[in-house]
Amino acid sequence: MRLIFMGPPGAGKGTQAQVVADRFGIPAISTGDIFRANVTEGTELGVEAKRYMDAGEYVPDTVTNLMVRNRIDEEDAVKGFLLDGYPRTLAQVDELDGMINYTGHRLDAVVCLAVDADELVRRLFSRAQTEGRADDTEDVIRRRQELYLEQTQPLVEVYRKRGLLCEVDGIGEVDEVTKRILDALSNVQES
Ligand code: ADP
Repeated sequence: MRLIFMGPPGAGKGTQAQVVADRFGIPAISTGDIFRANVTEGTELGVEAKRYMDAGEYVPDTVTNLMVRNRIDEEDAVKGFLLDGYPRTLAQVDELDGMINYTGHRLDAVVCLAVDADELVRRLFSRAQTEGRADDTEDVIRRRQELYLEQTQPLVEVYRKRGLLCEVDGIGEVDEVTKRILDALSNVQES
């Protein structure tokens, strides 16, 4: 299975991505987590990414694309993967198409988690209090939502036109949402 998880910041992508990837026996690859790990380790990539992340901006495509390319080339991703937080721009969509076509595979489905704006802001503020992520301050949260609408929302239509989109209601208990996702994916034919 080659899956993409999409949805605005706060939609619960990370939580669901991990559970669903485990079910399919594929790695959940979160670009946000990889960037944060690099920031913690103080790598060159981390230093570069941090400037953008702290401001709620997207890390430049060239940097992100190369990182994803290297990650999906790893052994555990040969049989499939679930991408969480990538692609986020139209240029990243093209790049990912190239990476997948090159290996002779295709994308199986794109799960988009739908959550309304009020609930998103509520969740992000509560996460800010419990986890203390550097990019969960009010201004930065607002900027990330804005960027999502501007740069990432258009990808939903791209994947809808390709017949890959599975829209799932992201409101409710974690288990309930997982069940909706798995139900939606049960109709998907693995390539
Ligand atoms: P969230 O979706 O909750 O905002 P993530 O953990 O997915 O958070 O990502 C955190 C940050 O990492 C983003 O705000 C952005 O700066 C950077 N990032 C993650 N994925 C990408 C991507 N595909 N392209 C550019 N930047 C990214």
